Amino acid sequence: MSLSLRPKNRNLLLSFVICLFYFSAVFSQQIQIKDLLNTPWVYDGQEVIVRGEVIGNVMKRKDGVWFNVLDETGAMGIWTESLDVYLQGGSYNRTGTIVLVKGFFNRACPKHGGQIDIHSNEIDIISDSTERQHPLDKGKLKILTLLGILFLVAIVFNFILIAKRKRWLKNSA
Ligand SMILES: [Zn+2]
Repeated sequence: MSLSLRPKNRNLLLSFVICLFYFSAVFSQQIQIKDLLNTPWVYDGQEVIVRGEVIGNVMKRKDGVWFNVLDETGAMGIWTESLDVYLQGGSYNRTGTIVLVKGFFNRACPKHGGQIDIHSNEIDIISDSTERQHPLDKGKLKILTLLGILFLVAIVFNFILIAKRKRWLKNSA
């Protein structure tokens, strides 16, 4: 079967594929924050879901709560009018609460001075905040090992020199 389409049909097919791509992007379960940052016009006013770690301070305001969510690709400000779960922001010593946030994405929020944000009414906790482990830095470990070896070599070399000098003094006496 040959698949030779007339240019007009080919353009139609191409448009269809592009539409499908955009629709699948808009209706996909979860969106990477970098996609919201890089192509905000695609998602503006749409309901989106992002998943990530709460970072920094959870800021209470008169009419709601602000917090930031960080996924592997970027960070996004989340606004909610009522927060009924406990969120702990991540820091050097703690991993923040991991959340799934469902809400409406604003490319330029009219309520918040034109900033980019998500207004959420559904925040689910995936996992609670935990203490962060800091494994010994591999680079530092290598340098320490190297210094240790150099130190031992220096001590051994020193002993050899002392022994040689003693023998020389004995022989010349
Ligand atoms: Zn807003």
